[in-house]
Amino acid sequence: MAKRSEKKYVYFFGNGKAEGKADMKNLLGGKGANIAEMTNLGIPVPPGFTISTEVCTSYYKNNGKYPAALISQVDAALSKVEKLMGKKFGDPNNPLLFSVRSGARSSMPGMMETVLNVGLTTKTIPGMIKKTGNERFVYDAYRRLLMMYSDVVMEKAVGIEAEDGHGIRHKLEQAMEKIKKKKGCKNDTDLDVDDLKGLCEEFKIIIKETLKKEFPDDPKEQLWGAIAAVFQSWMGKRAISYRKIEKIPAEWGTAVNVQSMVFGNTGDNSATGVAFTRNPATGGNVFFGEWLPNAQGEDVVAGIRTPNPVNNDGKTEDTKHLVSLEEAMPKIYKELFSIQKKLEKHYRDMQDIEFTIEDGRLWMLQTRVGKRNGQAAIRMAVEMAKSRLITKEDAFMRIKPDQIDELLHPGVDPVAEKNGVELAKGLPAGPGGAVGKIVFTADDAVAWANKGEKVILVRNETSPEDVHGMHAAEAILTAKGGMTSHAALVARGWGKCCIVGCSELHIDLENKELHVNGRMLREGEWITLNGTRGRVYEGKLDLIPAAPENNKWYKELLKWADQIRTLKVRTNAETPNDALTARKFGAEGIGLCRTEHMFFEADRIKSVREMILSDTVEGRKKALEKLLPMQKGDFIGIFKAMKGLPVTIRLLDPPLHEFLPHTDSELQSLADEMGVSFDKLNIKNKSLHEFNPMLGHRGCRLGVTYPEIYEMQVQAIMEAACELAKQKVKVIPEIMVPLVGHVKELEMMRELVISVAERVKTEYKAKIQYSIGTMIELPRACVTSDEIAVYADFYSFGTNDLTQTVYGLSRDDAGRFLPYYVEAGILREDPFISIDIEGVGVLMKMAVSKGRKVKKDLKIGICGEHGGEPLSVEFCHNIGLDYVSCSPFRVPIARFSAAQATIKEKIKKEKTSKKK
Ligand code: PEP
Ligand code: MG
Repeated sequence: MAKRSEKKYVYFFGNGKAEGKADMKNLLGGKGANIAEMTNLGIPVPPGFTISTEVCTSYYKNNGKYPAALISQVDAALSKVEKLMGKKFGDPNNPLLFSVRSGARSSMPGMMETVLNVGLTTKTIPGMIKKTGNERFVYDAYRRLLMMYSDVVMEKAVGIEAEDGHGIRHKLEQAMEKIKKKKGCKNDTDLDVDDLKGLCEEFKIIIKETLKKEFPDDPKEQLWGAIAAVFQSWMGKRAISYRKIEKIPAEWGTAVNVQSMVFGNTGDNSATGVAFTRNPATGGNVFFGEWLPNAQGEDVVAGIRTPNPVNNDGKTEDTKHLVSLEEAMPKIYKELFSIQKKLEKHYRDMQDIEFTIEDGRLWMLQTRVGKRNGQAAIRMAVEMAKSRLITKEDAFMRIKPDQIDELLHPGVDPVAEKNGVELAKGLPAGPGGAVGKIVFTADDAVAWANKGEKVILVRNETSPEDVHGMHAAEAILTAKGGMTSHAALVARGWGKCCIVGCSELHIDLENKELHVNGRMLREGEWITLNGTRGRVYEGKLDLIPAAPENNKWYKELLKWADQIRTLKVRTNAETPNDALTARKFGAEGIGLCRTEHMFFEADRIKSVREMILSDTVEGRKKALEKLLPMQKGDFIGIFKAMKGLPVTIRLLDPPLHEFLPHTDSELQSLADEMGVSFDKLNIKNKSLHEFNPMLGHRGCRLGVTYPEIYEMQVQAIMEAACELAKQKVKVIPEIMVPLVGHVKELEMMRELVISVAERVKTEYKAKIQYSIGTMIELPRACVTSDEIAVYADFYSFGTNDLTQTVYGLSRDDAGRFLPYYVEAGILREDPFISIDIEGVGVLMKMAVSKGRKVKKDLKIGICGEHGGEPLSVEFCHNIGLDYVSCSPFRVPIARFSAAQATIKEKIKKEKTSKKK
């Protein structure tokens, strides 16, 4: 152990006592901290020690050198384990073996390396055989060590990047397949001692030939090799790409857990398994897992054999013939069941556990908070809060806003599915439906997706090396692997549709072909997955939108969200249909109705063009008269759909040339219709050209120069409102002026709106309450907000234009280079997606504070695209906005995020008051 003066790098655990505990994740990694916690809880854990994450950081800082004190601390911990186990590492008569595993602060399933059976050498093999009386088992363990060690330590850790299918592991697997084929056996377990002995010798020759090095036969050399390989794997390709996606900082480093080996493969009284305290795919409160008799953990995880369900509850149509642990070893199952209950209660969350049974004795190898998809996350959080295992606040903090989004994802249309050609069945690892073109490698998935193709990644095994491709794909389909295979976990964590263990698939990687039940599909052909049922179909079946309204946990959660949140949620909608969808999702009004979208409708675009192309006010007015009844009809539809909820209608915003024909033939037919010459129209069309239309003749500048356009729109809004009021339909119109930069613009537009609105009211003898507000989407509007507020009843931040103008970034062109900025780490996120809090956000705060200084109750919202993005919603809450407005499908996420923001604020306040 560490001497008094020296820094502690190694933490021991075993026999009911551990030097670490659950809250030491930063130092011991998630796995190390939880192993320590389980030990302290009196749960049977094989003894061992954890090397802290600080060693990893120091290893990278000092060019792969360890701190001086590490070796002696490892030696001391090793002897402690030896004493406890009554065995010695490297002892020819009574050898102790170790597993060496990674463990980062936050779980990165399968992204880093593990080496098992460390300490097995030509000297210790006879001792192991004598001890276990099971020669076959020992050679099986040895061939596993040869495979893992050569792959992880001798190849990957030294930076050899073998091409797909040419790595040492693949070569060794091929050698093993050859023997299996020769002997006519199906499973690894069918190989006998002599087969395995011969295989081990062959493995050593292949290793020497391929990697030009002997396989190390010294236990200490093996141990330090494995430790270094785990540290190296922190900077491995797949760990880096996973960290990037999950936003895990590189500075965190990984810990290394060195733990006495227990064996699940010593015979039929041994087993291994992975389980969840609740179902991670549905969230159901049932113990759920998989196990394999006479196997080592990697067999379950890597999907080499398709595992059995742990209990009878977990059996499905497809697995009902398999023997459960509950049936095979009822006493052990009972012990495991009560341990998982204890763990869930202790951690107050769903746990993902790994266990091994060695000769009838149960050992727990790991517990961690289990990954889950959106549907499961919501159900678990709600059920746990209802049973008071956690608080409602906890429930909200456990769900990621994106997980709400998953519920809003489509499934396969049942009618199409009934008529579809079913290709194969598999395990439903990630629910939902997906259609895509087949690709067979992760790199291809990324390349095709980058070209805009929808792809489904089809692999033999769910290998974590595929993580970048899995992310790019619509869905994942694998031939092997169980519900708990590492890659299936990853897919589920992202809410991706995923089917694993689809054993009818035969993938011919070389020719890029998929053979399934007598059919052959090539790369690029369409397939459809139903991840909820585990079914694969030929071709492209219809998907149907999700039906979150049928999910009672989701509904309950959003009901709680509405009780908690203070920020209101509206929607951006232009059609009664969108408005109805948004209301179904819980929108509390329309925050932005972009009237220009109505101008494009087929029945009026001609009149719009006529209006734009006329030279005189009279000509324009004539065309506007034609538009008036149509616009009025639009507004009646929207007001009716919103049933008395407030509706913000924005007056015309885009530059007029956007409505004009683009081709000569279109222009010719318009000229014919208007009875003018093509040339005349062409000249007029060209005269409207602007060098920089986004900063040109648009927004309220149109209203200033062509007041008759806004007059027509206000008249249409007010006539619609008055007509409905007469029918006793409640209407709350809010008229919004776009792109105001100078107070005089708003002052002038306000006068225009009032004069038309009052005239209409008088004509209809109606009492309508209406308000007049402005978009805040130019920096000058923010800075002069104290002047502008005088003429505004409300503000709505147009953060699309505000971001464009604050950054000097074209919203239409930035997509070409912004992703590079994010990749290079210059920007945390694309500022058109998530509000740039340090820049745009500061101006927003200024606008709020200056505006409310003049008008204490000034109603302020946001209707830029950011209104449905969780971090931006939180920011809007924090700066005191009244509402956010977003597209209909984002409404539930906004409601949830607004509640989360309220809770976060409360937690923060409690923390600061505690500090005081
Ligand atoms: C905005 O600029 O944020 C906005 C909502 O308006 P538009 O996107 O229509 O310019
Ligand atoms: Mg705008």
